[in-house]
Order: sequence, then C-alpha cells, then structure tokens
Amino acid sequence: MEQLKDKKILVTGGAGFIGFHLCKKLLDSTPNLTIYDNLSSGKLKNVNDLAKANFIKGDILNLKKLYSTAKTELIFHLAAQVVVPYSMENPIEDFETNARGTLNVLEKARKDDAKLVFASSAAVYGNPAKFPTPEDYGFNPFSCYGLSKVVGEQYCKMYMNQYGLDITILRFANVYGSRCHGVISDFLDKIQENPAKLEIIGTGLQSRDFVHVSDVVDALILAAVGENALGQTFNVGFGKTTKIIDLAKMILKILNLLDKTVVTTTNVSWQGDIGTIWFDISKAQKELQWHPRISLEDNLRDIIRERKMLDEHIG
Ligand code: NAD
Repeated sequence: MEQLKDKKILVTGGAGFIGFHLCKKLLDSTPNLTIYDNLSSGKLKNVNDLAKANFIKGDILNLKKLYSTAKTELIFHLAAQVVVPYSMENPIEDFETNARGTLNVLEKARKDDAKLVFASSAAVYGNPAKFPTPEDYGFNPFSCYGLSKVVGEQYCKMYMNQYGLDITILRFANVYGSRCHGVISDFLDKIQENPAKLEIIGTGLQSRDFVHVSDVVDALILAAVGENALGQTFNVGFGKTTKIIDLAKMILKILNLLDKTVVTTTNVSWQGDIGTIWFDISKAQKELQWHPRISLEDNLRDIIRERKMLDEHIG
C-alpha cells in the first residue's frame, strides 16, 4: 500500500457495496480520497461511515460536474446500474449509465492523465461453454447489463491504445460480504420476513462463483499498483461454483431451519439470468499475485450474525 500513500484518488460509486469497502481500505493510505456517487443505489450510511473521505453527490452522466472535481491520479470506476433484470426492462437507462457514463469517466481520466481501474462483470461472458472460464473466452453477453459492460471494456481498450492511458479491467463474479446486495441478502430478507418458506427465483440450479468483498478490494488495489496490471484484464472470483439451491441449504443449516423451511422454486428465471458462473482465476493469481482467502462457507455465518439472525433462530 506504500504506492498509494497520499495519492489523490477518485472512486465513482464509492457509496455502494464494493465502493464502501474499497474506500474504507484506501483511507488507511491516503486522506486525498473523493467519492463521486449519485446515491441511486448507494447508501448515505456508507458515506457517513467514511467521514474522512470527500463526498460529492454527482452523476457520472454530468460531465461538467465530473470535470470540476479535483485533479486526480487514480480512478476506481465502480459506479454503474448493476441490476440485470432492471437492464432488461430499461435498456436505454442501463446503456446511459454503464456505457456513456464509463466514457465520461474515461474522459476525466484522460483530462487528468490518471490511472483507471474499471469494474466489469462475469456478465460479459454470457452463458459460456467453457468452465472454469478464462479471460480470453471472448464476449457473448446475454443481458443488456452484460452488453453495456462490454461497451465499457471496449472503450477502456480504445483509451489505452489510442490515448496511452493506464487502465486495468477487473471482471467480478458474485461479490458478497457485509452490506451486500444480491442473492444472499435476498434470501436472508425472505427468511427474516417468513422463516417457514423460501422461494428461489429460477430452478435453483443456477450456479455462481462467490467471492468475498475483502478479496475483491485486495484485487482492486493490486490492479492499481501491480506492475503486471497495466493494460490487463483479470477475472476476480473464488474459482469455485456453488448452486443456488445449495447456497439456500447452507444458509438454512446455519440458521437451524433446514427441516423447518419449505424451499420452492419458480422454475422460470428473469430475462438475462446466467446458468453458471465459474471463473478461471489463474491469471490474477500468477500475474497480480492475488489469492482469494475467504470461502463462502467461512463467511456466511458472519453475514448472518451481522444481521442479528442467529440469536433469533438458534436457542
Ligand atoms: P452498488 O449498486 O452497491 O454500487 C454502485 C454505486 O454506483 C452506487 O453507490 C450507486 O449509487 C452508484 N451509481 C449508479 N449510477 C450512478 C451514476 N449515474 N452516477 C454516479 N453514481 C452512480 O453495486 P456494487 O455491487 O458495489 O458494484 C460496484 C461495481 O462492481 C459495479 O460497476 C458493478 O457492475 C460491478 N460488479 C459487481 C458485482 C457484485 O456481485 N456486486 C458483480 C460484477 C460486477
């Protein structure tokens, strides 16, 4: 982290789930941290818990406002519309935020001659035929969200090749941890509301590569400072895949509800839902010296404990 000491850093989407954890870690190294976020899905609580950071409530689509932020040396671009079903219902809004918004952030990077780390997604692969999926598998997005991330990545490559910008792309699998959104928090919400039943959207046979947010933060930082990161794209997952039905059972087991909760499936999933995500992470292990440390089994109990659900259900 010595390389980040006192660095001027801008985090778009810093009020969101991953952004919060990243900013918390960055504040150990630098006081010159600016969060730029429109709070569309980000939380004011996250911003308040990052009191030492400079917070600007702004939209990445507002180029004038983005330009008016202080000159920066390093940008983590995390701001995005992140919900796949929403992207299918609102493809233009999704495109605006994820494609044009990324272009605006690249322009800010070009103006400041800043290094940029871009948060991309497993969604760029769509439904791959190769597992574990390596970075060079190619693009085959299956949702508007996936396509807008492909466009973001391609603009990043254009800015590297044509303007010589220093950019690293990270493709995240399913990120989880404290303050997360997504399937784990959805299940916990449902169980909290009614422990007698748990409905899984889809067949339950969809499978995900769950990676802990603290490992993702380590990857983001290595992408920013690692000598081998320049111009590269890396998968960031745990390198293992877990069926959603098995995730449900793991959660119910921890809650001592395995024999008490009736699990049902809708069989039909949302448009754009991917079958299996399972990343080949050997490139990041080799070239970034990044090694995810926390397994789903190790951390689920902590997430459940944080939501104060253990005392309610276990005697
Ligand atoms: P999040 O929704 O918690 O964070 C996104 C943040 O971006 C929010 O704080 C939101 O308010 C902000 N934002 C959205 N539109 C904006 C705009 N127009 N201008 C300014 N700010 C805006 O999501 P997250 O899980 O923290 O995701 C962070 C990044 O990682 C995203 O780019 C996402 O696509 C990517 N990603 C996340 C996951 C995951 O499992 N969480 C998986 C793959 C990729």
